[in-house]
Amino acid sequence: MKKIISLSLVAIAAMVLATGCTSHSENSEHGKSHEAHWGYEGKYSPSHWGEMKEEFAMCSQGKVQSPINIIPTEDIDLKALDFKYNTNSMDVVNNGHTVQVNILAGSTVNIAGTDYELKQFHFHTPSENNINGKAYPLEAHFVHAAKDGSLAVVAVMYEEGKENPIIEKIWSKFPLKANEKVSISLSANDIQAMLPSNKDYYKFMGSLTTPPCSENVKWNVFKTSMPISKEQVKQFFDTFEHANNRPIQNINGRSILQ
Ligand SMILES: [Zn+2]
Repeated sequence: MKKIISLSLVAIAAMVLATGCTSHSENSEHGKSHEAHWGYEGKYSPSHWGEMKEEFAMCSQGKVQSPINIIPTEDIDLKALDFKYNTNSMDVVNNGHTVQVNILAGSTVNIAGTDYELKQFHFHTPSENNINGKAYPLEAHFVHAAKDGSLAVVAVMYEEGKENPIIEKIWSKFPLKANEKVSISLSANDIQAMLPSNKDYYKFMGSLTTPPCSENVKWNVFKTSMPISKEQVKQFFDTFEHANNRPIQNINGRSILQ
């Protein structure tokens, strides 16, 4: 039984990590194809995800869902996250829901003794998580998987300010059409530089914020935000022509450590 559970976790993780999307349409014109499955507007919006497919049931039935409004419940001495981001990016894909940069194998973060390998990072506007009731114009999710398939997300908030040079590199490359992928060469240094130098963070359990909304995802959200210009946020928003944030979910009594 245990084996079946962990295998299916790996399968889900593999699907999610591959494209950030679990389904593909045969006719993918105009970049709207994925909305036939799930999206952010109208009958495909987050409030309907749970009814769309049996596999998406957690989106409506889960009790440990993301995103949340982060209000810390416990002050403890959280161990520093140990980043070893030492590989370059591979490519950047517009999957119809977001812009996702895939990373070559070998970059890891160690969280409480377990290594999680960085698979990809992607963006949401406005932010999905809030911190003490505050939303940010953009949030990046660095998605990692351990050998057993369990997932850890490291999130970076962006605050409106000066133009962000690494974001500029990504924005200048990413395909404007859904389901297109191009190569992009961000160095390991570029990727490290996307993280704030002050690495204090909030830690809590949650889920994927997109279908199938799988739970048991370890969330780590930096307290310190990074800058992004108003024009850069607009450029991302205009590509999709709508927000791509799932609404805040119930905390249901979970601990939020800092
Ligand atoms: Zn995300």
